[in-house]
Amino acid sequence: MTRAYNFSAGPATLPEAVLRQAQAEMLDWNGTGASIVELSHRGAEFMAVAAQAEADLRALMSIPDDYAVLFLAGGATTQQALIALNFASPGQVADYVVTGHWSKTAIRQVRPYVDVHVAASSEEPDGGFRSIPPRAQWQLSDDAAYVHITANETIHGVEFRDTPDVGAAPLFADFSSSIASEPVDVSKYGLIYAGAQKNLGPVGISVLVVRRDLLERAGQPRADIFTYASHAARDSMLNTPPTWNWYLLGLTVRWMLEQGGVEEFARRNAAKSALVYGAIDGSGGFYRNEVAPAVRSRMNIPFFLPDDTLTTRFLSESKAAGLLALKGHKAVGGLRASLYNAMPVEGAQALVDFMADFQRRNG
Ligand code: PMP
Repeated sequence: MTRAYNFSAGPATLPEAVLRQAQAEMLDWNGTGASIVELSHRGAEFMAVAAQAEADLRALMSIPDDYAVLFLAGGATTQQALIALNFASPGQVADYVVTGHWSKTAIRQVRPYVDVHVAASSEEPDGGFRSIPPRAQWQLSDDAAYVHITANETIHGVEFRDTPDVGAAPLFADFSSSIASEPVDVSKYGLIYAGAQKNLGPVGISVLVVRRDLLERAGQPRADIFTYASHAARDSMLNTPPTWNWYLLGLTVRWMLEQGGVEEFARRNAAKSALVYGAIDGSGGFYRNEVAPAVRSRMNIPFFLPDDTLTTRFLSESKAAGLLALKGHKAVGGLRASLYNAMPVEGAQALVDFMADFQRRNG
């Protein structure tokens, strides 16, 4: 069997070592005679798996002790809605910086609960997002419950390269598609959240890193199950957590630590993205990426060919060559290469070699 290079934006490629370990342990986890997926979440075995995953994630991301780490069923979109219920009083202002599709989704989720103030937006007249508004141009509210940014826009391929200073309001960030891709100073954020299915493991579980004092906010009337403080008080076992996903996430985080941690992945991600952007920029206009170079994403690279016929041909030929899922998101079209932590440098090199060959034959 040969594994292809999978450039999917998510669910995305996972480290082969992780998949092999999960395969080897599938029927009998650690001599228990049962699969991890069959064990009670309240038993000592799974509790140890869960605690190890948290400890490893804390080590990987250098998460300070005054932050809680939650492992929650569901995706990032769910967290986008829940942050308003947990951290803003009804109708309170929340500031949003809009840098692409996922910033807009985040706003849509909270409209019923808060007074959304768009502090800045890079949506250009044609609907394109190709930059990040300079911090000096942001119009922050005086009394916002929080300021929300999308650290990496998975569809538009735009990434914050620095953590903005937003003053008194806590900074909340959707890190779904760039979590653990480089060192980040967690203490500059009130809250970081991410769906796991890009850099951390399988879909079906989200990670939330939140400054503990924020959990004391009253928020809005809501059920216990929507209350982060309740999840924190019960170590994310308020109800049955997605144990299989949590286990796979733990294996993935452990793998990242063994590979050298976020410093090493920052190095690899810079190398991979430099290869692909280099191929685009060096193609004399055959391939195009329109994002301002200073904020080009290292995780997701949208790019375009001169016409749709070439795009269709590129997709079928790249697939046949073992390069999967290079179709762009329907919101922007074209092509997209996602280069998450589990994508080896060799994968980016294979893509770049294919791009050069395709151009030779079609340029
Ligand atoms: N935010 C970002 C940045 C994303 O990339 C995605 C998914 N691609 C989401 C939010 C939504 O995540 P989910 O589908 O897990 O709800």
